[in-house]
This record gives sequence, structure tokens and C-alpha cells, in this order.
Amino acid sequence: MKLINKTIDQCLNRSSGAYKGYLSPKIPKQFTIPIIEEVSNRIESIPGLIDRRLKRDVPGLRFAKPLIIFDDITRAIAGEKIASQFKTMGAHPTTEIVSSNSISEIERILDSGLKRFAGLEFDCEISSTHIDQKYGAVKCGEKRYDIVYGVGGGSVIDVAKYVAYKLNLPFVSIPTSLANDGFASPFSVINLGQDGTMTLCANTPLAVVVDIDLIKSEDPGYQRRIRSGIGDLLSNLTAVLDWQLADQKNKERYESFSGFQAICGAQLVMNELRTKKDIFYDDHFLETLACSLIASAESMSRYGSSRPASGFEHKLYHAYNVLTDFAPRATHGELVAIGALCSSYAHGKFQDNLREAYMYAGLPVSNKNLADCGIDRKILLKAVSEAQKVKPERYTILEDRGVEKMLSALHEAYPD
Ligand SMILES: [Zn+2]
Repeated sequence: MKLINKTIDQCLNRSSGAYKGYLSPKIPKQFTIPIIEEVSNRIESIPGLIDRRLKRDVPGLRFAKPLIIFDDITRAIAGEKIASQFKTMGAHPTTEIVSSNSISEIERILDSGLKRFAGLEFDCEISSTHIDQKYGAVKCGEKRYDIVYGVGGGSVIDVAKYVAYKLNLPFVSIPTSLANDGFASPFSVINLGQDGTMTLCANTPLAVVVDIDLIKSEDPGYQRRIRSGIGDLLSNLTAVLDWQLADQKNKERYESFSGFQAICGAQLVMNELRTKKDIFYDDHFLETLACSLIASAESMSRYGSSRPASGFEHKLYHAYNVLTDFAPRATHGELVAIGALCSSYAHGKFQDNLREAYMYAGLPVSNKNLADCGIDRKILLKAVSEAQKVKPERYTILEDRGVEKMLSALHEAYPD
């Protein structure tokens, strides 16, 4: 595996640290961007596509022992099909069905990979998290798998990405939902049970393949997922305003290119929302959204932290999450969209553009819409003050103007 790591890095001139879980990716510039980023429809065989691209870009690199992770729903949509395509190609896939992004599911999959190679060694750094304590000390140098595929929505991708990171293996992300930018990011959100959820560093995916035909769905939650993805993307506009503000106040230097990369997709999607009638089933719109979310995730990889895509609005989301015992009825994208509108009023920028875009997309623009998303206004107000406790080192409009100003911005954005 070390030879493969080296080949990938050398052949593609990526920065060091790619797919090496034992090097802390928290050190900026050890993040990389995916080698393969494909957004298309009617992809006949995803393993075939990856094989062809690797043949072209990294001659001699093959993967024959994939672990394919999906859930009960995505197994039928794509998981089993991908496994059988691997078999046709002469590979030996193993499949795992996950039920949640819990730490126990991750341990179960790691354990199943270990049993057949007892006594071998993991290349993991030992840190304070539970899983690191348990697996960081395990001796193992060879693995049952040589690549991990995640086929599914947020939770499946989070589990697969983290398993790949812990096994020090390349990861291929095949999202079946565009509800946020996590499918291409170097982070995993893991459910720690009573301790809530935690965002942990993982490796940037080797490949991100978005098949628009796997995204489109007739199920009742589909339009809400797309709306949420739009919300997560548009919130980059205020995250970058926060970053620029931090730079003005000499708190954190702004990097123009990462900032540009985070917001250019948001601008494109806002334009498309003005002109498209049925965004939910428009291939071109979905492609723009998928590419923009990948660009958003890539801006975080490039910069080395979530800064380009996470400002006050994400602090508000985390605070609301804690106040609702990690079971908010609103989605991540809806909550950050609400925070972004509030932030835009406090900044005095983009408020009209965002409001207009939200109306086209069906994101909340009124008190009634908040209730429709399952938002409790009292908890939302409380979350504004609690947001100070989230990542206090990250300077945003909240730290600059204070809680009172943010509360009045919230009242402006969503009048009683
Ligand atoms: Zn987000």
C-alpha cells in the first residue's frame, strides 16, 4: 500500500500526506484534492470508469479487493450493481451494509477487516478519540481490502470515508444525495451516541463520482435534500464574508483563491435559480449543484480547514444541534441557510440576493417557513447566543458584532 501511496503522489504531483492516515491531516497543506472528479449521467460502470481513468493517469495502479459500503436503500439503487461490475472485471469485492454513522458501526466494519489478519498493524496515529485508542494500537500492516467505496447519502459516505482513513486506504465517494458538500470533503461526521456528533478529519477522496441518475429520485424526501444542498452551498457566501472580516481584523489571513472557489458555485446556482423552472429534475441544474458542492469541499481541502465554507451560520447549526440533543428536525442545509440569511443582514450584504434565491429554491424566508422546517424559534434565538461557544477561535460576524446585533439580524431576516 505504501508503494501505491507513493505512486499516486508522485505521478500526480499531489501534496504529501495523501492517503496516509498516520500523518495528521490537520496540518494545513497535507490535504489533497481528488484525482478523479466525475459528474455525469448514465454512467454505465463506475468501477470501469475509475479503472479507465487510473489507467490513463496512474499506469500500473489497480484495485482488486474493494470494500463497498452502502445502506439498505442504496444497496438496491447502486451498491449491488457496483459489486457485480467489480466481479465482471475479475476483482473480489466485499460488501457491508451500514445502518447509521455511529461509532459502533465503524468499529464493526473495522473489526470485520481485522479478523482475517489478526496480529497485523494499522498505520494510524494514536489520538484521544475512542476509535484511535482502540485501533491505533492494533498491529497490522496488510489489509483485507485495497480500496473503500462509499455508495449512499451523508451517513454512508461519512462511515466509508472514516473507515478508509483508519485503514489507510484510498476512498471513492459515490453519493446518492446532494444534501451537503460532505461527499467530497476531507471530514466525517460521526455519531458518538450520548456525546453527540463529532466532525473528524479523514482523507480527501481519491475519486468523487456523481451519477445524476443516482441522485434523481421520486421519494418524498428528495426535493428537501436538493434544497438542503442549495442551502449548504449558498451559505458559503456569508462564510467567506466572515473570513474576509477576520482578515480585516488581523485574525486569520484570507486566501483569495480558496475563497473564490467556495463562492463561485454559489453565484452560479443563484443565477440558475432565477432562470430554471423545475430545478429538481433538470440535469443541467443538478450537475451545476454537484460540481459546486465538490468545488466547495475542494476549497476546504485546498485551504486545510473548513474556513472557506463555515462561518457564523455553521456555528449556529452546531449550537442548534446541541440544544435539540443532536436531533434537529431541520436539515443541515436548512439550518445553515437560516444562519446565512441572518448573517447577510448583519453584514449588510447579499440579503436581497439570498432571499430571492431561497424563494426560488423553497428555503425558509419567513417565520411560517421556519415552522414548516421544524424549527423552534425560541431554540433558534437561544442558539444565536450559544453559538459563541462553538469554535471560539474562528472569528466571524458574531464575534465582531456581538450577540445582540445577531439577534436583531435574525429578527430582520425572519420578522415575528
Ligand atoms: Zn455545511
